[in-house]
Amino acid sequence: MTVAAPSPEPLPASATSALLAWFAEEGRDLPWRRTRDPWAVLVSELMLQQTQVARVIDRLPRFLARFPVPADAACSVADVIDEWRGLGYNRRAVNLHRASEAMVERHDGRVPEALDDLLALPGIGPYTARAVRAFAFEFDDAVVDTNIGRILARVVGERLTPTAAQRTADAWVPNGCGWSWNQAVMELGALRCRPTPVCDGCPLAACCRWHQAGHPSPDPAVRSAAVSTGQSRFEGSDRQGRGRLVDALRLGVVADVDLAAVMGWADDHARARRVADGLLTDGLAVRDGATWRLP
Ligand code: SF4
Repeated sequence: MTVAAPSPEPLPASATSALLAWFAEEGRDLPWRRTRDPWAVLVSELMLQQTQVARVIDRLPRFLARFPVPADAACSVADVIDEWRGLGYNRRAVNLHRASEAMVERHDGRVPEALDDLLALPGIGPYTARAVRAFAFEFDDAVVDTNIGRILARVVGERLTPTAAQRTADAWVPNGCGWSWNQAVMELGALRCRPTPVCDGCPLAACCRWHQAGHPSPDPAVRSAAVSTGQSRFEGSDRQGRGRLVDALRLGVVADVDLAAVMGWADDHARARRVADGLLTDGLAVRDGATWRLP
């Protein structure tokens, strides 16, 4: 017989109120917090994964002006990759294009609101699906990203599994406050509960077990669910070569013989070809004869 795990504890009402009040006072005015348009929310969430807030503030309006609805992004993957210039991790552009195609085919060109429908879209994982539900449709879904994962582990005082982190986050959402609650926890993680936390004045300090225990080592957030371990070195990495090749393809075709030089590894053709083949697999490039181009 399987014994069900005990339900996670909800936060004390005083902590819930304190965090919502803190967010109302100190939360940043960000463009994606001023809209409930599901397409704008979806695009912003995909951009914000791995790209700095300031750059997304700059680029989101331009992207939405070029692709105002999913049907526009469904037309041409090359155009979406082109507009993704400078945002990094170009695979997200391919995913966004593929998700747009699926929305046109299955949902009349609209972003669906059911969790299963969102999760069935190409490239849309549990975080993004729940973020769209909470931030566009204002459902009481709990999102768990790296910032929230850090807070969950520290407040509970232990490293959490993905299931435990999601269940704990679900238990914390106050009824009818899905939008503001998720924004508030995310903002606390971005501004205060950072890898090196600023606990003085934190609205959750009174109920945070790790803080109350005096920050014993190890920090429970380290290797807890959803908490990122930091990006590997970019300089000299395969990722840098991929980015260079996609940047070159945005300008035109690249010949086989020029691959290594374009990617910055003029003396390592085997590496350049292996990394370029990865772009083929990811749908970011096409090889015609002895030349490469955007799909
Ligand atoms: S008290 Fe410190 S560790 Fe705990 S949630 Fe607040 S900022 Fe994070």
